[in-house]
Amino acid sequence: MNENQVEPSLSDMPDDEFRAALAQVSNWLARYRENIRALPVLAQTSPGKTEQALPPCPPAKGEPVEAWLKDVDDIIVPAMTHWNHPGFMAYFAVTGSAPGILGEMISTAFNVNGMLWKTSPALTELERVVLRWYASAMGLPTSWFGMITDTASTSTLVALTAAREAAGLNVREDGLSAKPALVLYCSEEAHSSVDKAALVLGMGMRGIRRIPSDDHFRMRVDLLEEEIGRDLAAQRRPFAVVATVGTTSATGVDPVPQIADVCRRHGLWLHVDAAYAGSAAVAPEFRWALAGCERADSLVTNPHKWLFTPIDCSALFTARPDAFRNAFSLIPEYLRTDASGAVDMMDYSFQLGRRFRAVKLWFVFRYFGTDGLAERIRAHVGLGKEFASSVDLHPSLERLAPAHFSVVCFRVHPPGLDDEAELERINTEVLRKVNASGDVFLSHTKLKGRYCLRLAVGHLQTRAADVRRALELVCSSAGVAPPAA
Ligand SMILES: *Cc1c(COP(=O)(O)O)cnc(C)c1O
Repeated sequence: MNENQVEPSLSDMPDDEFRAALAQVSNWLARYRENIRALPVLAQTSPGKTEQALPPCPPAKGEPVEAWLKDVDDIIVPAMTHWNHPGFMAYFAVTGSAPGILGEMISTAFNVNGMLWKTSPALTELERVVLRWYASAMGLPTSWFGMITDTASTSTLVALTAAREAAGLNVREDGLSAKPALVLYCSEEAHSSVDKAALVLGMGMRGIRRIPSDDHFRMRVDLLEEEIGRDLAAQRRPFAVVATVGTTSATGVDPVPQIADVCRRHGLWLHVDAAYAGSAAVAPEFRWALAGCERADSLVTNPHKWLFTPIDCSALFTARPDAFRNAFSLIPEYLRTDASGAVDMMDYSFQLGRRFRAVKLWFVFRYFGTDGLAERIRAHVGLGKEFASSVDLHPSLERLAPAHFSVVCFRVHPPGLDDEAELERINTEVLRKVNASGDVFLSHTKLKGRYCLRLAVGHLQTRAADVRRALELVCSSAGVAPPAA
C-alpha cells in the first residue's frame, strides 16, 4: 500500500453506500413529514423508558443504516414530542420547513467552522447578507451588523456583555471587584434568559430590576424611571434596559419609543428581545410592534421561532458592533490572518467555532420569498384571531390577554365561579386531558397570578380545523358547551 493512501476499510462510508443510505434517509424524512399527523404530538412515554430501550454499550462492529433507522422508528419516534406536528400549539409553535431542512443538510455536509473569515469566507459573507435581508424584511436598519447565534439566550448574553463593556467601567481588564454594582432593567414579563445573562455576567439576581407591567403586559415606563432614579441615588450603576417585543407568556409589546427616550437620557444600552414577535414585522401590518426599535443598541429575533427555520437559528443585530469587539476581540497568535478588511466573527462573541447556519435561513427566504413569508405569518395571526373570537363568544371561556399575534391566552371560567385556586385546578385538569388526546399540544402560564392556557399557532401545516379541534377538546375536557358552529 502506498503510504499516502488510507486503507479503504479504514476510510469513511464508501460513496456508493453513502448514496444508497442518503436515499433511505431522504425517504425516511419524507415519510415522517407526510405521516406526522398520525403520531401523537406530545410524547406518550415515561422518564427512563428510552434509556432502558437502548443498549448500555455501543456496538463493537458497525451496523447497517437499516438497523439504525429501525431503532429510530421503534425507540426514538415514540418518545418524541413532535414540534413539526400541525397540532403543536404549545410554547411558541415553530416550523422546521422543507427548505430549511434542505439547508441544514447542506450545511452539515460542508461541515465548516466560521470562526474567521478565512476559515470559510462564504459562511461569514452569506450570514451578513441574509441578516441584511432579514432586517430589511422587518423594516429594520440594514446598516446594522448582524450575526447568527444558536439561541436568543446566547444573543442576549452576548449583547449584554457588550453593554457592560460600553458602560465604561473596564470590566474586561479589571473584572467586577471594586466596581459599583451594575443594574439591569427589564419588565416582570421578560424572558428568564435575561436573568440568566445577568447571572453569568455577575450582576446577580439583586442586580436585576423587574419592572411591573400594565394590563396589556407592557413595561411601566414611569416605574422604570423611578427605579433608575433610586439606583443612581444609591450609587449603583444602571447600564442596560431589555425591552421585550412579544413577551413569552402574553406576547405583550413594551413601549420601546419611550424606553429608548429613558435610555438616551441616562446613557443606557437598549437591548430589544423580539425572539418570537420580531418576524411578524415581515408582514407590514405588524411593523408597529417594532416601532422605536431602530433606536436600539441591539436586538434579537429568532428565525427558529416564527420564520420557519429549523432550530437553532437566532439573529442578533447591533447598531454598535465596535462595542462587541471591545468586549470580545482577543486574537491569539494561531488565529492571526492576513485577510485585512475581513470580518472575523470570533471577534464579536465569546464563542470561537460557529456553524454555517445561514444556509437554511437563505433557503427559507429563497423558497417562500418575503411575500410568501408575510402571507404565512398573516395566516397564523388569522387563525389565532379566530380562536380568540370563539373564546370571547363562549360563556364559559375567558381570554386573559390581548391577542396581538398568533398566541391566545385564555382559560375555562364557568360563570359565577371566581375562586382562583379552583379555576387553576379546573384548567390544569383541562390541559392534562387536552394534551393526552395526542391531537394537540397546548401549554400554560400565569398572568398577573392567574393560571391560563396558551395556544400558539406557528406551524405551516396547522389548519383552521386543527385550531377548531383544540377548542372542541378544551370544551369537552372542561365539560362545558361545545363552541358555537
Ligand atoms: C423563546 C424566547 C427566548 C428564548 O429563546 P431561546 O432561543 O430558546 O434562547 C427569549 N426571549 C423571548 C421573548 C422568548 O420568547
